[in-house]
Amino acid sequence: MPDGRTHAAISSCNLIAVAAIGAPMVVEHRDWLPTYAAVLVGLTIGLLVTPDLDMKQITLEERRAMRVPVLGRLWVMLWWPYAALIPHRSPVSHWPVIGTLLRAAWLGLIVTGVSWLIRSQGVTIDPALLGLLPFVLVAWGVQDLYHFLADKLIKVRR
Ligand SMILES: [Zn+2]
Repeated sequence: MPDGRTHAAISSCNLIAVAAIGAPMVVEHRDWLPTYAAVLVGLTIGLLVTPDLDMKQITLEERRAMRVPVLGRLWVMLWWPYAALIPHRSPVSHWPVIGTLLRAAWLGLIVTGVSWLIRSQGVTIDPALLGLLPFVLVAWGVQDLYHFLADKLIKVRR
C-alpha cells in the first residue's frame, strides 16, 4: 500500500496536470472559467479530504492542516467522528463514488451550518455556485479513484 506522501504526490500531479492543460483552453474560451475553477477546487478538495481520513492516527494532510493555528485543530476535530466510526480502508471510505459522497455529505453538513451562521450576519452565497457542484464532485471523485487504484496497484516493499 502506498503511504500518504505517495497519495499526495499522485493527487498533486493530477491537479497540476489538469491546471496546466486547462489554462490555455480557458484563455481561448473565457466562459469555461467557472467550470475550470470548479474542477480545480474539486481536485484540491480531493487532495486534502482523502479517503485516509478514516485512519485513527493523524494523517499527512491533517499534520499539514495543524500548521494553521486554530483552524487546523478544528479541521482535525471535524474528521474525528469519521475516523472513529469507519474502519481504515472500509468500502464506505475507500470505494469510488461511495467514499466521495460520504465525505461530501459530511463536509456539506458543515458548510451548510457555516453558511447558515454567515447568512445571519447578512452574507449570502450566490445560488449559481450550486450549479458548479457536479464539477467539483466529479473532480474530487477522480482524485479518490486514483487513491483507490494506488491502494490496489502499488506494492511497497518495507
Ligand atoms: Zn487509502
